[in-house]
Amino acid sequence: MTSRQRSRSSQTTAVNPGVNGSASGGAKSTSPSTTAGPGGTGGAGGRKRVLVVGAGAAGMSCADGLARHPDKFDVTIIDAMGYCGGQAFSIPIDENRYGSKWMNQGVQGGSYIYQHTFHHFGKLGFEAKPVDLQVSFGKGDKFWTNLFPTQLVAKHSSDIKRFETAIRWMRRLQVLFALVPIKVSLKLWGLSEDLALFLGTGNATPDLPTAMMERLYTSPTYGMWYPVDPKSLSSNLPPMVVFPESTDFYTKWQKSLEERNVKVRLNTELTTVITRKPTVRVLLRPRRETEDKHNPNLADQDLPETEEEFDEIVFCVLADTAKRVLGKQARGTEKWVLGNTTWSDDVTVTHSDIDYIKKWYTIEFDKEQAVSKLGERDETARVQKGEKEFKPMYLIKETPKDPRKLEMCFDCSAFQYQLDKDKPLEDHVFQTIYLNKKHEDTWSKDEIKKDKIIREDWWHQLCHTWKHYAFVVPFVWALNRNSKNTTYAAAWTLVNAHEVAIISGQAAAYKLGADYPQELYHNDFARKSFKAYLFLMHGLTLSEQRTS
Ligand SMILES: Cc1cc2nc3c(=O)[nH]c(=O)nc-3n(C[C@H](O)[C@H](O)[C@H](O)COP(=O)(O)OP(=O)(O)OC[C@H]3O[C@@H](n4cnc5c(N)ncnc54)[C@H](O)[C@@H]3O)c2cc1C
Repeated sequence: MTSRQRSRSSQTTAVNPGVNGSASGGAKSTSPSTTAGPGGTGGAGGRKRVLVVGAGAAGMSCADGLARHPDKFDVTIIDAMGYCGGQAFSIPIDENRYGSKWMNQGVQGGSYIYQHTFHHFGKLGFEAKPVDLQVSFGKGDKFWTNLFPTQLVAKHSSDIKRFETAIRWMRRLQVLFALVPIKVSLKLWGLSEDLALFLGTGNATPDLPTAMMERLYTSPTYGMWYPVDPKSLSSNLPPMVVFPESTDFYTKWQKSLEERNVKVRLNTELTTVITRKPTVRVLLRPRRETEDKHNPNLADQDLPETEEEFDEIVFCVLADTAKRVLGKQARGTEKWVLGNTTWSDDVTVTHSDIDYIKKWYTIEFDKEQAVSKLGERDETARVQKGEKEFKPMYLIKETPKDPRKLEMCFDCSAFQYQLDKDKPLEDHVFQTIYLNKKHEDTWSKDEIKKDKIIREDWWHQLCHTWKHYAFVVPFVWALNRNSKNTTYAAAWTLVNAHEVAIISGQAAAYKLGADYPQELYHNDFARKSFKAYLFLMHGLTLSEQRTS
């Protein structure tokens, strides 16, 4: 695919005023799937009819968990798009030029803690591949990388030393600091909040809770930058994994669900929840499938909705979508918790414009900026390594208009294993990420040459501010404990990451009565993460009796 595509959202986020919060919008026909029996288990043989809304990682994982009990559950999973995977999908690219005929467009990879994700990959014969992450931040005298020390690092050596001490104290006093915004914690140590931007996690970083930054540096398990380097902040190469072809994986997962009698209904959008008690009654609207299966928002409103009935509903969609389709049906708690989530509309441009990259990022070894001594520490070996091996995968730019607004970019050819990182830079694929449409005036998106653009995608992304951890995450259990036959899963319930989405779906299935896979139960790390999630989000404990 070489021509610029019409910009489409990969999410269904648009408000549909005709039906929002009421059953009255649009043409409608009634077709309850089955008649409800006593106790709300109206499926054939007294099975619970479960509607899983959203076939992203969370929804697929939930449907998979339920499908292990065909005697108990009659599972339907729907998605407004024409494919399974949600934010995880692949696109076709020019094999001759880039060395592969596909690349992953949304989710690209993760870390070794993604045990539930690996479990599902493994069951379908897929595997993630290891990569040591190289980061390149800024340009000229603002440039630093984790591969070798630069002038910038040498210049800020006293701040870096102080940061190291601060991090240790934040760890010791984690109860006090956990939810405090990073910018406040840094100020307490006399450090500039700009230091937070060095973490490279986006513009909202100064507002993230301190616990996130502290864990990045102090946790041997979760810490990407562990251990903190008192001389150059981040000098390790975080071991990461890169995902296999997402579309292939999710298509095979879809088939495997269908073989187990799960009804996978793509191009089907939930527009309204009419009622949830004694049974769940919803309005579903078919969508016209578009060529690349990313059906645009606000389309197809002329198509008639059907009313259908289920015993349980599991929301595996974004929080604001759930709130919208619930409309007046939403309980006070739901309105409050779902309404406390904050979102940003970001756009990714996938392209091969090396001139743009060279203008704004450091993608080649910069001899002038490399330093071979940090205080008394000899750094010659790291500089030599940099000279030979510098091929940054994750690049960050400070926007000149406002240096606190970052632009991020993946050199996908260096990061994704199937692409050829040794090709000349002109034949690399880059994915540049412009954050938050509200700051569009700081974007330089229009500088990318049109004929170099492969694709553009809009994303409605969760903002991980401290407020999310104060007013959303601690109350997800209150959403899940209800008498309204409703369960919530999806990455937004904790952190926007594929592994969290998968765990959340599995936990939703467990809450409804599905077992936890024994293989994962015997994997210490997986079990502990699942237990923690299950307890925090559902107030439930994992029982060995409920594994199979
Ligand atoms: C550009 C980008 C890069 C990322 N990279 C990584 C990465 O490298 N590693 C990582 O771990 N995470 C990454 N993430 C985050 C990760 O993609 C998500 O955390 C995860 O995929 C979310 O899964 P989910 O099931 O919670 O939600 P989604 O994947 O958003 O699934 C929700 C599904 O619900 C459907 N839907 C919405 N509304 C309706 C409706 N009304 N009716 C029916 N269906 C509906 C949507 O079409 C969608 O398919 C990235 C995200 C983005 C945007």
